[in-house]
Amino acid sequence: MTIRTFSGAHPFRPSCLIEAYEDCMRYEYTDPKDRREEAVEFVEERLPTIDAGRCARCNGDLEDWEIPSGSRLTACRCIPLCTTCGRAEALSGLAQVLIRGPEDGPLVPLICPVYDWPVSRKEQEDAVAEFDRRGQVREALLLINTDGGLSLATEEGVAQVQMREHPDGWLEHGYDESADRAERER
Ligand SMILES: [Zn+2]
Ligand SMILES: [Zn+2]
Repeated sequence: MTIRTFSGAHPFRPSCLIEAYEDCMRYEYTDPKDRREEAVEFVEERLPTIDAGRCARCNGDLEDWEIPSGSRLTACRCIPLCTTCGRAEALSGLAQVLIRGPEDGPLVPLICPVYDWPVSRKEQEDAVAEFDRRGQVREALLLINTDGGLSLATEEGVAQVQMREHPDGWLEHGYDESADRAERER
């Protein structure tokens, strides 16, 4: 089964989801072996859903016309997401800056880590809507630091912004499915 995402540098590879899981758990375990084991278990559980053509993040169906977005969790961007989850993930960097207290709870689904997948699509839709609603009423200033990093200045203070400068995926790394072809021929 070959699943291609819009931005992926190759078709979806379960090993990339394993890496994404391990990466987000890197502070949780000291023993990389345990981490790997848990990651493999997680991915094995998620695979039937993804192979059925659903979104890896929310389990939701994709429309027939919908080309999955490539998750930004990996540089190859091969993990397939629905449009809502792709947008939620794209906002996660800014959401991290905006989330300051309990009143920001509706934004939390935007920063949902991979080990909490699947996350409800409805919650993500609400979170994106909440983000957009706030975006219209808040003013912020994006500052370029001397080290080239970015800061966001709002009336509440200044915070570091983690934005990706690179598009990743095939745009940056080119498209190469040769390894996948070899895998299929085996
Ligand atoms: Zn989704
Ligand atoms: Zn990949």
